[in-house]
Amino acid sequence: MQFQSLQPMSDSFESMRPRLAPTVSVVQDGEDTCYLMMTGKDMLRCQGPLVSTLVTRLLPLLDGTRGVAEIRDVLDGTLEAKRVEEVLRLLLRHHLLMDAEPEQVLSTQERVAFGSLLALLSRSSTQPYRVLERLRRMRLVVVGDSELAREVVDALAECAFGTIDLVSPRGAWAAPTLELPVRVRHFDPGELRDVVPGAELVIGVQDGEFNFTRQMRELNRLCLRLGVSWLQVQLTLEAEGWLGPLHTPGTACFECMDMRMKSNLRTWKEHGLHEEQVEQGLSMGRRLGFRPMQRQLAGALAVEVLLHLSGIEASRLVGRSLVIDALSQESSLHPVLKHPACPACGTPPEARLHPWGEEDIRLERTLMSGAAAP
Ligand SMILES: [Zn+2]
Repeated sequence: MQFQSLQPMSDSFESMRPRLAPTVSVVQDGEDTCYLMMTGKDMLRCQGPLVSTLVTRLLPLLDGTRGVAEIRDVLDGTLEAKRVEEVLRLLLRHHLLMDAEPEQVLSTQERVAFGSLLALLSRSSTQPYRVLERLRRMRLVVVGDSELAREVVDALAECAFGTIDLVSPRGAWAAPTLELPVRVRHFDPGELRDVVPGAELVIGVQDGEFNFTRQMRELNRLCLRLGVSWLQVQLTLEAEGWLGPLHTPGTACFECMDMRMKSNLRTWKEHGLHEEQVEQGLSMGRRLGFRPMQRQLAGALAVEVLLHLSGIEASRLVGRSLVIDALSQESSLHPVLKHPACPACGTPPEARLHPWGEEDIRLERTLMSGAAAP
């Protein structure tokens, strides 16, 4: 995956505190050549008589503790101010530098806990601290009744989201296993309508088949009413992970998808009967309940949410589902279209029957009566 460039504003150059990105390694090759390696594939080759000054004098100053003017002053007499700026801008352009100026707003605990996340963010942004700060202010809601929901909460906590509200039945709740500076709160299902408003994103988690379908429908109706986006995720009995769709206002909703899935099934009638009986408590809903696959899906989901909410990449899950085969590791994207007859977001039947105005109805009646005339 290619990370998009998130360059700082040009006028912020002077106010930044440049730090060499944590994933950069400096490899020297003789006196006149050095390589700034990002990964095995990406590198910047520096050649010429200034290489020695770059490696021994300039690069050690890029530790995030000095401003641009201070770096110029320290190198005064060694390297021209114009050259210093050229090199810094070059490094910035190639994502080898990040601005450490905003790190003061983060606590030491946050900087330690999310160090690897910062390194990852620095690959796509020269201001990873600002991105992290934004994530810290976000509140997500996870709705589920299973271990999978717990795994999702843990994986999202690793992505530094400040507050995660888990809505689940009391019996399914256990304290998060991770010790991170993230606020995780538990709410009972009856509190759902109080928790959803104002959330950055709502995630509905279904482990297995039918167990949680009624609650997913309720969540869908609530989000439609409030105009809130929500993301559905499911681990099926066939070990398939379904990420998405991300239901945004105006796109296919959970019930649109449910109708389209059922219409593709030859056993749609038996399938519907089974679902109904599970919801009535007459039959058991089954779950795979395999922890490694729950973790795998939760991790994939957390990365999708991170890319989307950090602004690094627009979500590919709007109106689409990413299906991951947890055994073969193959994945594919499937578009999900709105269903015109959807009981949750479709057009009411009377509006579908008469999509035209009064004038047209009168005209149609006239034509019909004309056709019926002898
Ligand atoms: Zn719908």
